Amino acid sequence: MSENDCIFCKIAKGQMEAEVVYEEEGVIAFEDINAKTPVHVLVIPREHVPSMAEVGGLPDGITKRLFEVAQAVAEKKGVAESGYAFRINNGPDSGQEVLHLHAHVMGGRRLSMP
Ligand code: AMP
Ligand code: ZN
Repeated sequence: MSENDCIFCKIAKGQMEAEVVYEEEGVIAFEDINAKTPVHVLVIPREHVPSMAEVGGLPDGITKRLFEVAQAVAEKKGVAESGYAFRINNGPDSGQEVLHLHAHVMGGRRLSMP
């Protein structure tokens, strides 16, 4: 999948609608369209990287901001204290569907692995 037909790139560029929870220069967070938990937000780098294999190609500081924005989103959604999962699916066995690196912030009920 190229950047041109990547749905998360389109959301990051404002070319596709999403319920944005938070955004800044390099990172955007938006509601998962098919929420699997009461709180289910996706945090993504605006820049297209398909997977963890290319994470080193992100601009300096963006990986750190993904973590910090996830925590800020959890606070905003009221699950920072009750707890949440910060999950990156990577590759076929993980069930990764969208090949633009993204972290799920999931909470609002008791979760279990996997
Ligand atoms: P993953 O399996 O980790 O690739 O997760 C992809 C996630 O993206 C799924 O939870 C989908 O529900 C979600 N998703 C797919 N398309 C959209 C969209 N247009 N807006 C918001 N979330 C989406
Ligand atoms: Zn993309």
